[in-house]
Amino acid sequence: MSAIWMLEPEYEAMERERLERLVLERMRRTLATVLRHPRWARRLGSVRPDDLDRVEDWRRLPLLTKPELRDAYPFGFACGDGYRRVHMSSGTTGNPILNPYTERDVRQWGDVMARCYVAAGVTRDDIIQITPSFGLFTGGFGFHYGAERLGAMVVPAGAGRTALQLRLMRDLGATVLTAIATYPLRLVEVARQEGFDLSSLALRIGIFGSEMWSDGLRARIERDLGIRTYDIIGMTETGGPGLGIDCQARIGIHVWEDHYHPEIVDPVSGEVLPDGVEGELVISTLTREGLPLVRYRTHDLTRVVSRERCECGRTSLRLDRLRGRTDDMVIVKGVNFYPAQIEAVVMRQAGVSHEYRIVLESDGGGGEGLSIEVEVEPGCDPGIAERIRHEVYDLLALSPEVRLCPFGSIERREGKTVRVVDRRAVR
Ligand SMILES: [Zn+2]
Repeated sequence: MSAIWMLEPEYEAMERERLERLVLERMRRTLATVLRHPRWARRLGSVRPDDLDRVEDWRRLPLLTKPELRDAYPFGFACGDGYRRVHMSSGTTGNPILNPYTERDVRQWGDVMARCYVAAGVTRDDIIQITPSFGLFTGGFGFHYGAERLGAMVVPAGAGRTALQLRLMRDLGATVLTAIATYPLRLVEVARQEGFDLSSLALRIGIFGSEMWSDGLRARIERDLGIRTYDIIGMTETGGPGLGIDCQARIGIHVWEDHYHPEIVDPVSGEVLPDGVEGELVISTLTREGLPLVRYRTHDLTRVVSRERCECGRTSLRLDRLRGRTDDMVIVKGVNFYPAQIEAVVMRQAGVSHEYRIVLESDGGGGEGLSIEVEVEPGCDPGIAERIRHEVYDLLALSPEVRLCPFGSIERREGKTVRVVDRRAVR
């Protein structure tokens, strides 16, 4: 592998034993901080920082849920003082979740984002175009602070205006694209509509996150844009993107364990699962001041891939790419699946566009129907409908109706992409 270096090797490549001692020390400090606040003290009960003898003792603390954070709106679980900023989660129902940042939180965010850039092979000589929005959503600012910390040139384009994005990218020689995971597809589509030559771009690296994107979608983006992509994770509650990223070895996503403590739990029982077993990601923050998290349930599904030193030299634990969310699970005719599983089947086919939709309907007789709408290129082999149906059947034992539709016919939306349309009657 070429050009392996790290922003903070003293942490990123720290021996596991020392790393665990550091994590334990930071856990005790986090616990001491939150216990000074009545709301936290009430829910954490009688446990004291000195009761933590080993990292595993952290499991004795109760899990924190999204509804609890919502109910604490605006700042019920906040522990800092001297706030400089607030960001907000993009939830659609109930109170939003706010995360207030102290000055040190803003700096911490820049530090972990800069680590992510370096893990992806970005240097200060790069020109980084930032396409997530700058505002309450965490994406834009996180990529911005990381780039500043690194010392690279930033094009803070923000969201939308795709034709202008392409033009700026070309004329300013952007080498790095940062985006919500499905936005590159929009770029490719607009380039095609406008007759824009994608080979005129100098892009070499893409850093994408905030949505599930299957390996199939990833391969497609890499091919169409001629770049190498990196999967970045993180959410508003944890302080935005920057929790971790996959490295050049691409064998799992490194989590910056000196800042965040990940656990994988059984989504039903809440018990911690052994490495390798898929479950729900639970995150605790170890260095955040404004909104520290103690065992926060993220609803994201993944597993621990490895705690061994990676080819890239980093020792931080690696998670699998996120496979779905516990709350995205679709149940049709008693079969559970995640939209990403269908996406992987669709994206494998030649001649399909990147747009597809999973439609759930009542069949009129009290049963349920599953159909998949797939956009195809002109002249595409109509046999792919049957291939998709067959492959979905092999995977899930469900036999969907597959409808091929012309390119451009599925509605595009700004922001996060809607993949599942549920038209079933509410029972
Ligand atoms: Zn690595």
